[in-house]
Amino acid sequence: MENFLLWVFYVMTFYAFLPGVISRTFGFRVFKRGRVEKEIALTFDDGPDSQYTPQLLDLLKRYNAKATFFVVGSHAEKQPGLLRRMKDEGHDIGIHNYVHKSNWLMRPKTVRRQIEKTNAIIETATGERSNYYRPPWGIVNLFDYSNMGYLQIILWSSLFGDWRIRVGAERLQRRMMKKLRPGEVLLLHDCGKTFGADEAAPHNMLIALEAYLKQGMKQGYSFVNISQMIRLTDASWKPSLMKRTVISLWLLWERAFHAAFRLKQVGEGDKPSFHYRVTTYNGQSVEFADGGAIGKGDVVAELHFDNGMLSSIAARYKSPLAAGLRVIREVEHALPQLARQLAEDPDASNIKAVYGVTMIHRGADRLGFEVFNLPDGLFARSTNVYLRLLTKVLTPSDSGNRRKDRNKRLKEATSPRMLLMPVHRIRQYAAAGLDNLQGGNADLLRAPIDRTIAGTGDESAVISSKTTAL
Ligand SMILES: [Zn+2]
Repeated sequence: MENFLLWVFYVMTFYAFLPGVISRTFGFRVFKRGRVEKEIALTFDDGPDSQYTPQLLDLLKRYNAKATFFVVGSHAEKQPGLLRRMKDEGHDIGIHNYVHKSNWLMRPKTVRRQIEKTNAIIETATGERSNYYRPPWGIVNLFDYSNMGYLQIILWSSLFGDWRIRVGAERLQRRMMKKLRPGEVLLLHDCGKTFGADEAAPHNMLIALEAYLKQGMKQGYSFVNISQMIRLTDASWKPSLMKRTVISLWLLWERAFHAAFRLKQVGEGDKPSFHYRVTTYNGQSVEFADGGAIGKGDVVAELHFDNGMLSSIAARYKSPLAAGLRVIREVEHALPQLARQLAEDPDASNIKAVYGVTMIHRGADRLGFEVFNLPDGLFARSTNVYLRLLTKVLTPSDSGNRRKDRNKRLKEATSPRMLLMPVHRIRQYAAAGLDNLQGGNADLLRAPIDRTIAGTGDESAVISSKTTAL
């Protein structure tokens, strides 16, 4: 019975907390449509152009419209004044490579250089670096995702062939009017000098755009830059009634769980970050990097994240990086306190290690934990199936490719790991506090240890001890 309850607890924890993290973490890298009430984002590629861009800026100003310019570095280099004007008039500037060339034709390193060079040009002209990137023709190189780090990739929800002069201003206008809808990210071009475009095409675009702006204003739309669109979209994320119900049931369940298994709170106050309980270890035998070992039947302190803490972090920090760092910070703060409590707790006098299973394990090695993969088996497999289902639920509007890609990243970042810290290491936290530990005994913690527990035997025992939240 106890094992069953632990299992249910584990699954519930997955369900309730992960949605927030996942939608923020993985929904944010590629942006192409907003979820907003009455806003539209205009984006202009390939410029700046000495002839058309000033006209466009005048037009936007007349209608009090903010937009986003994805500039080609080699064009921007010659027009620092236009870049400054864009910034001064409240528009966003994004990067569209240094030369207008597809990322498929360039090595990842070259793409990175192009982006860097263009961003330097933007920074020199405006004093600010750009956070946005749009690859030419929207063709993203697989490496782009891993290489871009700080950059948000912006695609679009509609395009109209405005780079072709034969489309004509009138037809262009008709096409655009069909997309007078909230959340649209329109792709237009303020320069016709790139390969495949007609040089005078932006002339038609300006005529059609004026009609579009006029009609849009009449209907109460506002035209915003991409940062504003992302901000509003992000703020509109609300869990459905179903999800909220599940979350409150889960919080209730968590309280019952804490009472039933006598979880002890780490630290004082009503907003703890962690709980622990002293229990016996049921998993595989493990030897620690610096000597000592743990095996079945040994006494351990089993660590639990507080899920209230986790969900408030997920809600507060929009960027995955910031949320991850924040969680690691919380662990850093709590470890000395945990160490002192364990030293005073008579139940914990004979523990061999601190133990937990968690999905957030990046950086745990730095804190003195050893990180182990879970044995491949029913548990690992069912977790993966569950996560795939979850992603589908969370991302109903995604195209197949994007979802596939997201799934891959999701799997990498959220596969559960077992964390173990031998008791002599946690004792050092009590004696020294974290600063000293990281200074004096840093060698102890430095080498990242990532091992797989040998064999897949006794899976049920492993499952029965999977309790740590998240
Ligand atoms: Zn382009």
